[in-house]
Amino acid sequence: NLNEIGWNFANSYESLPELFFSEIEPNPVEAPKLIVLNESVADELGLRADALKGSDGLNVFAGNTVPEGGSGIAQAYAGHQFGNFTMLGDGRALLVGEQITPEGGRFDIQLKGSGRTPYSRGGDGRATLGPMLREYIISEAMHGLGIPTTRSLAVVTTGEEVLREGLLPGAVMTRVASSHLRFGTFQFAAQWGDLEKLEALADYAMKRHYPELDTGDYLGFFRKVMERQAELIAKWQLVGFIHGVMNTDNMTISGETIDYGPCAFMDVYDPATVFSSIDGQGRYSYENQPRIGGWNLARFAEALLPLFDEDQKRAVELAQEELYKFSDLYKGFWLSGMRAKLGLFGEESGDEALVQGLLDVMKESKADFTNTFRDLTLGELDLEVRPAFSEWHSLWQERLGRQSESAESVRELMQKSNPAVIARNHRVEAALLAAVEHGNYGVMENLVKVLRDPFAYSVEQDDYCVAPGAGVTAGYRTYCG
Ligand code: AMP
Ligand code: MG
Ligand code: MG
Repeated sequence: NLNEIGWNFANSYESLPELFFSEIEPNPVEAPKLIVLNESVADELGLRADALKGSDGLNVFAGNTVPEGGSGIAQAYAGHQFGNFTMLGDGRALLVGEQITPEGGRFDIQLKGSGRTPYSRGGDGRATLGPMLREYIISEAMHGLGIPTTRSLAVVTTGEEVLREGLLPGAVMTRVASSHLRFGTFQFAAQWGDLEKLEALADYAMKRHYPELDTGDYLGFFRKVMERQAELIAKWQLVGFIHGVMNTDNMTISGETIDYGPCAFMDVYDPATVFSSIDGQGRYSYENQPRIGGWNLARFAEALLPLFDEDQKRAVELAQEELYKFSDLYKGFWLSGMRAKLGLFGEESGDEALVQGLLDVMKESKADFTNTFRDLTLGELDLEVRPAFSEWHSLWQERLGRQSESAESVRELMQKSNPAVIARNHRVEAALLAAVEHGNYGVMENLVKVLRDPFAYSVEQDDYCVAPGAGVTAGYRTYCG
């Protein structure tokens, strides 16, 4: 039965004012089938994988049953989408409960693709198999890279067809998150709630994510969120991850990466890289991500203004004082990450220029982002073949020579800072093709296995390190799914 599985549900979100959510009737599906069960996530949640594979597990993953103590709600939120403010909300998601783990952690268990809600607008509330598996693969890759992220506990097919470019297999993904509180949740509260409701939401978020803060320290709350976002976006930049849809509704209060729609990893280094089919202006290109992070934080601060000070002029000044710190904060995380990628232990004033020098040569010579750092780690960047790197390489060697750490320590630092494997687009596509078109999930599982340990530098991984041939992903396009 359900308790054998280990569900231990709470539903603290329902203690918030009703404005913030809608109760949802279950939307049963015909013939659910388990496609993915993420045993490592199950384990972390205190759930028994073998029991989850039975019909009780399946019925929860499909939205047919909500376990005892669960909730069954869609959350309200708003957000700036490509710069425009809109009312949104869970249009195809259902929060089934908050799993309390044996260690006392609290994680949202949310079904994505589980049917229409009051926030669905024109949408059908459904999801299809390809994009849900893509989210599973890439979120596991992010987790393997040590980047805060939501994760997938399971993916099931529903037995129903969903109309997209054609009829596609319907699917539901079970998403696990520290919470689904977004910048957009606060924008919603500021727009449609009163001061009391905004305060209730902020108090809730602070208690859940930043319990170390004093009650009522809303400026401290903003600062914490800003720090987490600065660190998160720096981590994206350091591995060439492009989120693709950095709308304020897709920015979390917890600092986890969320919403794996049009995201992708960059192969060839080009700061202007965009993969998303709907991002014609390049708003969310690789190089724009830090700046957009700052813009999003400004929208978040605006929503919090009534909490910063009764005097709104003073509140704006306080918010600005904080926001000014963002770019240095980000730069700090990024530069220390880049130093590690180059095996630099201490700090020298010329380090930023050294990093920029490398990036310039990489751009000029259309170098593969991941493999350039991998080659440097392995000492395999062949200067005979790639003379463009010679001058930079000598400067780097001189810099390494000025520190006292051994070559072995340098190599160790570089290896744990430079992934050998990323979720390369052509590999992800191949895995999805096998899964969706041929019902062969082995290609995907092998890929995920490698992505879970991207710093291993093992021989078995070598095949996954190969960059696509020239131009293969130049025109790669991703979709919101
Ligand atoms: P996203 O671009 O993934 O952040 O989604 C933006 C908004 O569209 C969110 O409010 C989603 O819940 C909603 N949405 C996306 N796809 C669907 C769908 N198929 N049916 C209903 N709502 C959807
Ligand atoms: Mg979203
Ligand atoms: Mg999405």
